[in-house]
Amino acid sequence: MKEYLNFIGGEWVKSESGRTFENHNPANQELLGTFQLSTKNDVDAAVEAAAEAYKSWRLVPAPKRAEFLYKIGDILKSKKEELARIETQEMGKVLDETRGDVQEGIDTAYLAAGEGRRLFGDTVPVELPNKAGWSERHPIGVCAMITPWNFPMAIPTWKLFPALVCGNTVVMKPATDTPHTVVKLAEVCQEAGIPNGVVNVVTGGGGEVGTALINNPRVRVVSFTGSSEVGRKIAEIGGRSLKRVSLELGGKNAQIVMDDADLDLALEGVLWGAFGTTGQRCTATSRLILHSSIKEPFSDMLLKRVQKLRLGDGLDEANEVGPLVSEGQRESVHEYVEIGTREGAKLVCGGEPYTEGSAAKGWFYKPTIFTGVTRDMRIAREEIFGPVLSVLEAADLDDAIETLNDTDYGLSSSIYTRDVNKAFRAIRDIEAGITYVNGPTIGAEVQLPFGGVKDTGNGHREASHTVLDTFTEWKSVYVDYSGKLQRAQIDT
Ligand code: NAD
Repeated sequence: MKEYLNFIGGEWVKSESGRTFENHNPANQELLGTFQLSTKNDVDAAVEAAAEAYKSWRLVPAPKRAEFLYKIGDILKSKKEELARIETQEMGKVLDETRGDVQEGIDTAYLAAGEGRRLFGDTVPVELPNKAGWSERHPIGVCAMITPWNFPMAIPTWKLFPALVCGNTVVMKPATDTPHTVVKLAEVCQEAGIPNGVVNVVTGGGGEVGTALINNPRVRVVSFTGSSEVGRKIAEIGGRSLKRVSLELGGKNAQIVMDDADLDLALEGVLWGAFGTTGQRCTATSRLILHSSIKEPFSDMLLKRVQKLRLGDGLDEANEVGPLVSEGQRESVHEYVEIGTREGAKLVCGGEPYTEGSAAKGWFYKPTIFTGVTRDMRIAREEIFGPVLSVLEAADLDDAIETLNDTDYGLSSSIYTRDVNKAFRAIRDIEAGITYVNGPTIGAEVQLPFGGVKDTGNGHREASHTVLDTFTEWKSVYVDYSGKLQRAQIDT
């Protein structure tokens, strides 16, 4: 069985612990490899290597840094199929989706590379004569990246590539369920010729490796994607040392279907939004809000289609829904199903593990729908992160938007309507970082900001040019060429 190593200072090295953890395929529990169970000392060595590399990387002109990213994008493109298969094996989602995940990494590489020739600041007039003023972006230093398992490639690249083009160096800690993809990503960076120490990977648990990263005083930025619960802890620790902490957290996303909607289109949307990635997306459709007058027919249409979804190993292209990522995740999803039943919601399909044939060896769960859900129920309020859809009812647009907004989270949202007035009111009034009109809650593209409001984060945005604010400091520059002291606001 292959043992994978940490990547520190350009070398592949074992953890000082001498210990490893196992990585299993959630579709059949096959052992895929072992990874380093790292310690604080391993983290400190990686941060040291990153801090050393920062001294020269920050001075490489941004267009030259970008050349590495173009190369990384090209390599990812050439290895897309291989990487997608690795991802499907360790995470479970179907191949079509892992290909999309790798494609998002490729898109991000080229987007970040393009920034190498922009990284715009502002040039503005100044109030005194013979004086110039402008602002420019500067790198910050060593950035720590702590990532979840549901997008093993896309999420790390959303953080890594913009950080690099801005001139920072990086230590990455992937989720323990999906370390292989990030180790492969480091191999790609190495193949592209990234200088030693600019990119480092340390695998291991969140408690040990994650905490050590956040506490290391030489780490200046922590970019975290994961649960709101862990995000809060990270913000607290990072806040003590005034680190910049970017948090992309959970969601409880809803799709509204109005009475004037194209119901067939809305049906395709909710099937993809709720059961794609087996519901394990931060943007997954977890609530469906139906206008009262179409509630019955739409629920019937939905039920018929959901029961036909084909579950199985994601490597088999005939399958539409893969397993949950782990036994623990399946237990957690099932607990929510029990909670929903106790709360009085009506379970209309699913509600139990799927164990037919070879699926018995994996962590599959039947696509599940609850109807008769009310806003106060926990299944309408808490993130389940599995193939469970709660159906709620709304009397009109105001009621639908109020229901949608009645959550602690605010990541993605969707409305299906043919009425342009309703669509624009929804765009204005929905409290979320992302709103889709006549599209499902999932499907973000990398050139638009990604992130959410309320408990979904702390105001940062990934992707787009907005991510540059996470990985740069602004410097304002004044050049006075008058040859005398000029006092702003005083000499008029
Ligand atoms: P998680 O919070 O359990 O773990 C995320 C990462 O944090 C992992 O690498 C984990 O090892 C690490 N970690 C755990 N405890 C830690 C600690 N005390 N200190 C430092 N690091 C620690 O989340 P998960 O189960 O891997 O992922 C699912 C969650 O991620 C969901 O809530 C989902 O909504 C969220 N998510 C959000 C986005 C987004 O962009 N908003 C995207 C994907 C996933």
